[in-house]
Amino acid sequence: MDLFRALERAVSKFVEEAVQRPHPAAAPSADAERWDWPAFKGNLLHFARTLSYPAALPTRIDLDGLKIPIERLREQTAGGIEHGRMGYVNIYTGTLVLSRTVQGDQHSVRIPVERSIANVPVMGIHSHPRGLFQLDREDLHLSAQDYLSFLSTREEWVQIAVTGTSLIAAVKTSATPTRVDAQAVERRLNQLWEDAGRQTATPGRRVRLFSKLACIEYGLGLYIQIPEGPMALGQVRLTPKLD
Ligand SMILES: [Zn+2]
Repeated sequence: MDLFRALERAVSKFVEEAVQRPHPAAAPSADAERWDWPAFKGNLLHFARTLSYPAALPTRIDLDGLKIPIERLREQTAGGIEHGRMGYVNIYTGTLVLSRTVQGDQHSVRIPVERSIANVPVMGIHSHPRGLFQLDREDLHLSAQDYLSFLSTREEWVQIAVTGTSLIAAVKTSATPTRVDAQAVERRLNQLWEDAGRQTATPGRRVRLFSKLACIEYGLGLYIQIPEGPMALGQVRLTPKLD
């Protein structure tokens, strides 16, 4: 058996589904306006091999290849329980694969991270059930816990949250710290949450402002779904104020 087959067999123990093979790509282009799905996959592979967060991000990212897994997550979340999976790149075969779906509770889900030499956990995806803030639009945020686990996982470059009708994602850049003190991050996130609360008492607006403050603080790009395409994400302009 050749080495790649042996690696693939090892991967298949925990991988449910292969999501297509990324293009072997050069470093992300600093001036690209848009990463379509092949470009995004290529950048995931490039990142897995270098673990180097890019200096610049595009204004639009297309997640076409994740459409079916995301729809499945929504179905699984319809009962009000968060679900999540981790996306891995196999750096030898260049394959992007998603872990099995894990179930959490109404407010969180812990996605296990299984590292190996071959498999780099580059992209977390989890769902936010409707009802937390009554309106689906207001589920469109990343929580303090989401930012904390994202920043604490060095190899996780992208984190995506899926609501009933939309998507939100944070993406690390070269301005993002590669090592963090989890307790210090937790304290800082709590301060940002308080700061957001001083600007607005409306829960949905507060979580959205908090997301922007957290992304400014940690050099993250923030994206939400836009109408230009079924799986298109647009970069949010980061200001420390309400929209
Ligand atoms: Zn979350």
